Amino acid sequence: MIQYNKYIALLVIDFQNDFSDPQGSHYIPGASEIISHINAEINLCHASGGEVIYTQDWHPSTTKHFASHNGHAGEHCVRNSWGAQIHPDLEISGDVLRKGIDGEDAFSCFSVRDLESGVVKPTLMETLLRDRNIQKIVFVGLSTDFCIRYSAMEALSKGFEVAIVSSCVCSTNRDIQVQILKDLEENGVELA
Ligand SMILES: [Zn+2]
Repeated sequence: MIQYNKYIALLVIDFQNDFSDPQGSHYIPGASEIISHINAEINLCHASGGEVIYTQDWHPSTTKHFASHNGHAGEHCVRNSWGAQIHPDLEISGDVLRKGIDGEDAFSCFSVRDLESGVVKPTLMETLLRDRNIQKIVFVGLSTDFCIRYSAMEALSKGFEVAIVSSCVCSTNRDIQVQILKDLEENGVELA
């Protein structure tokens, strides 16, 4: 169990309808079953003075990020759509950072990549964390094999301590979850 304090931020990654509701366009298996676990973690973090920050994939309706425009993913989290909304059962109390807003790829919450120029730009996430003197990041949300993996690796490279709450994350394929978490642990991520 994570002992939260004011130097720890809980990052709730992309817990949006398209990923977390069985009716969503890219439902991640098991996601609807972890909502209560995530809410418990949010409450625990707040109760101990930690920061809670949410991310939201927020794409324009046409973007090279989508397979329809030569990207790697089907349409998901189109801004202002139902699918882009954070799941209604999730407790929201903290800043929400939107990513991919200009049509970029946005797998890590720290940076986005322009698909035409290849230019990588930082999001506001690192600034939000440094302004609050955060030293450790705890990840929950979706999905373990994409946004959480990329975000966790980038957080490590920036010198943050990193933890993942295993009961509060899901992968696009249930079978790979254990291996992904093991790989991250070998890279220095604490599994809680
Ligand atoms: Zn996306």
